[in-house]
Amino acid sequence: MSYDTRAGDRSVNNSPNEADSEPAAQPRLFSSSVEQTPSPKGKGVWIIALPVLALLIAVAAVQTAPVIHQAPPPLQTFAKQRSTPPALPPKTTRQRAKATEPDIRVNVTPGGVQSFQLDVRGRCRLSSLETNEELASETDLSRIMVTSTAKGLKLGSRQYATKQIEIQPDQSPSIRVDGHLYRGRMRLFRRADGLISAVNVLPIEEYLASVVDSEMPTKFPEAARQAQAIVARTYALYQVRLADPKSVFDLLSSQRSQKYLGVEYVDNSGRRLAGESESSRRVVKETRGVVCTLRNELFCTYYSAVCGGRTINGDEVFKDATDALKSVPCEWCRESPHYRWTTELSRDVFQQRATSNNTSGKKAIPIRSVRQTSPTGTGVISRFELDAGKERPSVSGIELRDRLPPGTLHSPHFQIKLEKDRVLFDGRGHGHGVGFCQWGAKGQAEAGRTSAEIIRHYFSGIELKDLGY
Ligand SMILES: [Zn+2]
Repeated sequence: MSYDTRAGDRSVNNSPNEADSEPAAQPRLFSSSVEQTPSPKGKGVWIIALPVLALLIAVAAVQTAPVIHQAPPPLQTFAKQRSTPPALPPKTTRQRAKATEPDIRVNVTPGGVQSFQLDVRGRCRLSSLETNEELASETDLSRIMVTSTAKGLKLGSRQYATKQIEIQPDQSPSIRVDGHLYRGRMRLFRRADGLISAVNVLPIEEYLASVVDSEMPTKFPEAARQAQAIVARTYALYQVRLADPKSVFDLLSSQRSQKYLGVEYVDNSGRRLAGESESSRRVVKETRGVVCTLRNELFCTYYSAVCGGRTINGDEVFKDATDALKSVPCEWCRESPHYRWTTELSRDVFQQRATSNNTSGKKAIPIRSVRQTSPTGTGVISRFELDAGKERPSVSGIELRDRLPPGTLHSPHFQIKLEKDRVLFDGRGHGHGVGFCQWGAKGQAEAGRTSAEIIRHYFSGIELKDLGY
């Protein structure tokens, strides 16, 4: 099977935190409660009527993880919009009975790896995805290295003549890949280039419990985190629909898609940290199955950390942006340290990199002045004309972000001031600035807005629908 790197080839990240960690959750030391309560059964402030909750819990209890990857169920139009605003769609028995929770396939080794450490707690079953043949049952895969060979894959000392292996553990969560503990199953693929991809397959709601904490701090208000869950669910299911049939995964675990750390993980300094929490499991459960739709279709719900006062028009940055992603004002993210920012760079480095991606031994092109050609405050990214003598190349804020050293520019929205030996950047926001503003969601939630109201502010003309699983 040819290996599809579709998701890895995206030119622009969805990442709200591309250069650094804002506003993704600060690392939280792993608490034993995570291990003691591995399944999402959080309790808290429920926004759904109690009888419906009882039904939800009953449905969750009998739910079994489907073995075959399934496409998401078709959208079901929810009862005509109520005249009162935004609340999450109510859940009904009729809808619950119809659909099955879809699985999601997450590539947890973006870019591929030569080898990695695998540790499965308890017993597991191995099968080949190429032949469906069972390779081993009741196998012990504790602390082994996975490597690729000419013929297939090697797990510890055992060689398998297949390039695609699925690991189905007896219990979940129990699979660790390079220190990250994941729920569900793991698929191993030996790629054509000899590298290995590990793809975690699990029910989408379990995946989201980690995404919410990986993408948004636990201290952000409940309504903001509920909104994050809905936006992340829609983003993920849209990617499933978009996936090439030949692709072996739907999303990456990195910020190129959505950050997904797993149930827990070990950081570079050896600390054991939580990748999900009681709180994230609760907000996912409270919004179970709810997605954003535009004209009854899923769309790509881009989001970023801080818009800096006005979101950017989606089509400024993304080819697949819909009209739901039009620029809207947002003063709700003022509290973020990146609402406004300044950075500087040596003039030499700027002149070396501003006009080209080629950084290897390139001579600096003297740039006499910089003229901003984009209007300010209109939802467009910054664009500049560089006066380099004979040539006057144009560059966009996105291009400069790619070309200048990582971390120099927090967003594609800034002004440039040339000085004798240095260049000053005066910018706004963090991340690409399109769609849902995470810090803005925090501000709106603190002002008493609901998750539905927050989402509708950033995505124009959309509806919230319950997929009914
Ligand atoms: Zn904002």
